[in-house]
Amino acid sequence: MNLLGFTRQNFAVVFEQMNVPKWRAGQVWDWIYRKSATSFDEMSNVPAEMRAELQGNHSIAYPAVDRVLTSSDGTEKFLLQLSDGESVEMVLIPERDRCTVCVSSQIGCGVKCSFCHTGTQPFVRNLEAHEIVGQVMVARQRLSDPGALNSKRLITNIVMMGMGEPLHNYENVSSAIKIMMDSDGLAFSRRRITLSTSGVVPFIVRCGTELCVNLAVSLHAPNDEIRNKIMPINNMYNVRELINACRQYPNTNEARRITFEYVMLRDVNDSEQQAIELAALIRDIPAKVNLIPWNPWPGAPFKTSSNSQIDRFAQALARTGVTVITRTPRGQDILAACGQLKSSSLSK
Ligand code: SAH
Ligand code: SF4
Repeated sequence: MNLLGFTRQNFAVVFEQMNVPKWRAGQVWDWIYRKSATSFDEMSNVPAEMRAELQGNHSIAYPAVDRVLTSSDGTEKFLLQLSDGESVEMVLIPERDRCTVCVSSQIGCGVKCSFCHTGTQPFVRNLEAHEIVGQVMVARQRLSDPGALNSKRLITNIVMMGMGEPLHNYENVSSAIKIMMDSDGLAFSRRRITLSTSGVVPFIVRCGTELCVNLAVSLHAPNDEIRNKIMPINNMYNVRELINACRQYPNTNEARRITFEYVMLRDVNDSEQQAIELAALIRDIPAKVNLIPWNPWPGAPFKTSSNSQIDRFAQALARTGVTVITRTPRGQDILAACGQLKSSSLSK
């Protein structure tokens, strides 16, 4: 069993079953998450018999790095190989004052938004908790990140915005996030972790209560008519239900807002009228809108809105008092930008 997927609570149970004192679990946890140990041999303060027993039943295995592509803007896309031969992508995005790792939650995605490359790949399976945490460990290893051990941590933010719908894999995603947040381990604050969802309403509420990480919602349309056309999930949970769930998301205030993601699709959802409709829809929610110029992929039936149209849309929102940011695409040249990920497991 791969120890990377065990939450602190379940981790302690493993050691209880081995009949060793509880504090030993803490030692091993420390080796894995603070010292990035990948073998039990390295754990010099752990007795040899205990290491042997751990070795016999458990592993600390990161996903294998199959390939790394580097974009001209410094973004790196990792194709990771999992133990069953499947592949998944993870993206590392260095910026001036921070470095974000964009983590996948599923192989493929069953939601099938029409503008998304991942959606064209058949859904293969959910990622296990250890495969989700493992992506962060690979990113740390790549950067030789000392992590929370000192103030020089290199990876500052985690976004669950890679392949898949995280709230369709809630149990594993929630275990992984609990491991990322553990203060004696990776120690990412909930404010440094953002989960993006296409709108799986019942789990938005649960995610808010149990994890309370930053929430990003892929809204992409101001009404059901447009959203139904581009996001089939809207037929299950409509705009009204989605906005209601956002309204109830705990600890939302001016200092901690919900992000609404809005992909700019030419002549589909990008008119000034639609910006005004969007502003009215989210009026009473502490929110910011993230405009994402649509990132092309081969064979897609969309066009990106022109820069001037994106500006007009942004200004129409801003005039109503909505905070709006236009996201700069990162890693487009290596198909690493939002919605471009698609692991090549299919081409086999
Ligand atoms: N499945 C989750 C998280 C992953 S996608 C979700 O849908 O929220 C991260 C963001 O990129 C989402 O807002 C998604 O809708 C958006 N996106 C998908 N395809 C895109 C594309 N081709 N160009 C720009 N953004 C895209
Ligand atoms: Fe899945 Fe998100 Fe892509 Fe929609 S945008 S198909 S939910 S990964």
